[in-house]
Amino acid sequence: MMIKILGGGPAGLYAAYCIRRQLPDADVTVYEQNDAHTTFGFGVVFSDQALEFLGAGDSETLPLITAGLERWSDIELRLQGQRIRIDGVGFTAIARLRLLEILRQRALSAGAKLIDSHVVRDLAELDDADLVIGADGVNSLVRKTHEAEFGTEITLLNNRFAWFGATRPFDYLTQTFKQLAQGSFNAHHYRYTPTMSTFLVEVDARTFERVGFERMTEDQSRAYCEDVFAEELEGARLVTNKSLWRRFPVIRNRRWSVRNRVLVGDALRTAHFSIGSGTRLALEDVQALAHALANHPRSVQDALAQFEAQRRPVVDKLAGAATRSATWYDNFAEHLKLPAWEFAMHYIGRSGRVDTERLRAMSPRFVAGYEAWREAA
Ligand SMILES: Cc1cc2nc3c(=O)[nH]c(=O)nc-3n(C[C@H](O)[C@H](O)[C@H](O)COP(=O)(O)OP(=O)(O)OC[C@H]3O[C@@H](n4cnc5c(N)ncnc54)[C@H](O)[C@@H]3O)c2cc1C
Repeated sequence: MMIKILGGGPAGLYAAYCIRRQLPDADVTVYEQNDAHTTFGFGVVFSDQALEFLGAGDSETLPLITAGLERWSDIELRLQGQRIRIDGVGFTAIARLRLLEILRQRALSAGAKLIDSHVVRDLAELDDADLVIGADGVNSLVRKTHEAEFGTEITLLNNRFAWFGATRPFDYLTQTFKQLAQGSFNAHHYRYTPTMSTFLVEVDARTFERVGFERMTEDQSRAYCEDVFAEELEGARLVTNKSLWRRFPVIRNRRWSVRNRVLVGDALRTAHFSIGSGTRLALEDVQALAHALANHPRSVQDALAQFEAQRRPVVDKLAGAATRSATWYDNFAEHLKLPAWEFAMHYIGRSGRVDTERLRAMSPRFVAGYEAWREAA
């Protein structure tokens, strides 16, 4: 079977590895527009157990990734001059480039071919394949080429975000919220190596306009945000890597495949970065796809049908939680009117996945602090 994969991000590279392992006779090629040392963004987080699924049926990749992870067990919220710790919410993080390097090596070791620095502009180039996998991210050419048949729906969130790095580590996965004269600001910041952190800045639409970010260069935006978050940065610098202001696209598709073309990862559906699950979903997608292909080596159509039937319920559930979390962030300026502890309780319940009893078991110190504040209020 000849399989062509468009996109050498986490989904495309891991797809190549999983498929070659399950179908050693398959001819698998990945096409990537960037070179092997270039990507967007900085570090990515995974919730505590998010990567455990990798261990099932692939005992080799998981230890390679976990060896380089930064870990912590608390979230810290900074707002209104207070620091509120939510204990027991474990997260890990890794540099996106490091993750891609590991997945590249896995794909090559399994016998996949990687063609870098090659932009595919027309799917006709991939037409001789038995299966084309669209692992080409939010602006997917595979999806756009068949938009009506996939039944694509894209909704842009209102907030604007820019993904910076910071030249210092932070002790926790930290969320800083600021209400200033010029507007409402949020930063998601956490270390992904012992010396570097992701520093993702989010603002509401009114703040974006009032500050004039649209007219600023990348470096002017960086300097402005460095000023806004000077207290948190404590003298460290923000750094850029294609750190342009964007609106997050919530992408959904009514159908996951059209004839011999299938979507995976962000091309198929996005999950807002506030729940740290987009990469994990992408990896899970392709693990499931490889499994379905191994079950139906003679019928791509049957394999694609099995892939969608098995995977859709899981994806829909997590995507729903991600959308609720994204909607909460879209209204964070409004939530900032709440007292800090109430805001924190609202924050931890935002995706609808944590009920009171679960929270009490997971974060006893946080719940005790909240109850003490309620009694005193
Ligand atoms: C600001 C931000 C923060 C995030 N933080 C996290 C996080 O903390 N944790 C997490 O799990 N997820 C996070 N995500 C989500 C995560 O980045 C994605 O879910 C993940 O990268 C999806 O992997 P993918 O392989 O499907 O797509 P991508 O990583 O986008 O990879 C697609 C690849 O296809 C290539 N490509 C596209 N078109 C072509 C073409 N025509 N020709 C050749 N190559 C092409 C691109 O260059 C790219 O390398 C974040 C996303 C954003 C925007």
